[in-house]
Amino acid sequence: MVHLTLSNSLTRQKEDFIPLDENNIRLYACGPTVYDYAHLGNARMAVVFDMLTRVLQTLYPKVTYVSNITDIEDKIITRSQESGEPIDTITSRYTKIYNEDMEALGNMPPTIQPHATDHIKEMLDQIASLIERGHAYEADGHVLFNVPSFEKYGGLSGRSRDEQIAGARVEVASYKKDPADFVLWKPSTGDEPGWDSPYGYGRPGWHIECSVMAEKHLSLPFDIHGGGADLKFPHHENEIAQSCCAHGQEEDLSAFAKVWVHNGFLTVDGEKMSKSLGNFTLTRDVLNRGIHGHVIRLALLSAHYRKPLDWNDNLLHQAKKTATLIYKTLHELSDVEAGDLSEEDKAELLAPLYDDLNTPLAFTKLHQLCKSGDTDKSALKAKIELLAGTLGFFAENAEEFLGLNDDSLDTVKIENLIAERNEAKANKDYETADKIRNKLVDMGIELKDTASGTEWSKAS
Ligand code: AMP
Ligand code: ZN
Repeated sequence: MVHLTLSNSLTRQKEDFIPLDENNIRLYACGPTVYDYAHLGNARMAVVFDMLTRVLQTLYPKVTYVSNITDIEDKIITRSQESGEPIDTITSRYTKIYNEDMEALGNMPPTIQPHATDHIKEMLDQIASLIERGHAYEADGHVLFNVPSFEKYGGLSGRSRDEQIAGARVEVASYKKDPADFVLWKPSTGDEPGWDSPYGYGRPGWHIECSVMAEKHLSLPFDIHGGGADLKFPHHENEIAQSCCAHGQEEDLSAFAKVWVHNGFLTVDGEKMSKSLGNFTLTRDVLNRGIHGHVIRLALLSAHYRKPLDWNDNLLHQAKKTATLIYKTLHELSDVEAGDLSEEDKAELLAPLYDDLNTPLAFTKLHQLCKSGDTDKSALKAKIELLAGTLGFFAENAEEFLGLNDDSLDTVKIENLIAERNEAKANKDYETADKIRNKLVDMGIELKDTASGTEWSKAS
């Protein structure tokens, strides 16, 4: 019997994964707030939970993966006020961009991608239930969750009360009964978007959005809740508080989600990649440099999901080498018929992933298989296809990845870069010329300077 183990942040233990319903595994991961392009830290979360979905799919017949779009939030309102663009123009543009970028990284679309603004009624229902049960109160046009009303608050992050107050950076407002109380509903004024409610015209707080969308689309309790480690507190702590207390489940923190999975940070020189620190790289910018999305995917999966991963060009360079090896091998095997694998073979092959998603070991194994020169090509192909596919790399993408499908080559861009390089050389700006050559090398293009000009070809 194959066991999947996962590190559960709620119990702080690596546990055997025991489904609530073997016929339908239910997973929720907090998605983006759509007011700007996604950076690579956001992408890490999406890639990790896509990979977890694929691992679950090898074990169970159905996986329902819900990942939301936060399309009402103060950062979006600020962006709209600054740019003069309507909110829904901003949110629909960045939802589309996010989905395009995530697809380029080889992610499947989530089974359901709910939008917060489609769930206002359900949020108001949950708020009413929290007020009725004595866990929330109305004050000054706001509705607040009263943290001291929930004794087990803090159980996920293990934070003390002082740390909770400091960490939440909650506004110390006169209308709060307790400094740790957080907003469920707040008033909207002027041109701020809002909805009518029993508490006046207003809009929901961020945390209630996920509680409601997870319950509506997965029902409670569900199997796995995920997100980046920064969301553990206060966002996930608050989701648990809302969802357990709205249903009279104050004693059981796992009455909302059974297993909590958190991915570590993508870092730059050891610091978390984030918008506020300004040290971020947009996924779209890396794609526009001509780096294939699957190289980015491989780089993001190259460390264990719980560990920090430092982003740099060397990481990309290594990822490109490995991705090229995988796709070259799949391409070379394209005429071979894949054999059947026994259940034991499959379990052995996927063992690293079943052990708390150990992707570094899985890639080492895949690398060994690609290099093995195994004479039983049919078995080799079946093994590589299974392991690579579970990580999100498929034979059908090999030609495009390797640039064998000529339509995929952006010849205009290549020619333009070569022209820029020639101009830089003519100006004796060898530094720029070298940079452009390196960029082309990154794109998989080799240059040859001849008496009659510069020739280019796909790197072999
Ligand atoms: P946000 O739009 O900031 O709420 O982030 C969307 C998702 O990306 C959340 O699940 C975050 O936890 C995750 N995330 C943000 N920054 C990073 C980072 N540097 N490393 C890993 N995950 C991150
Ligand atoms: Zn959330």
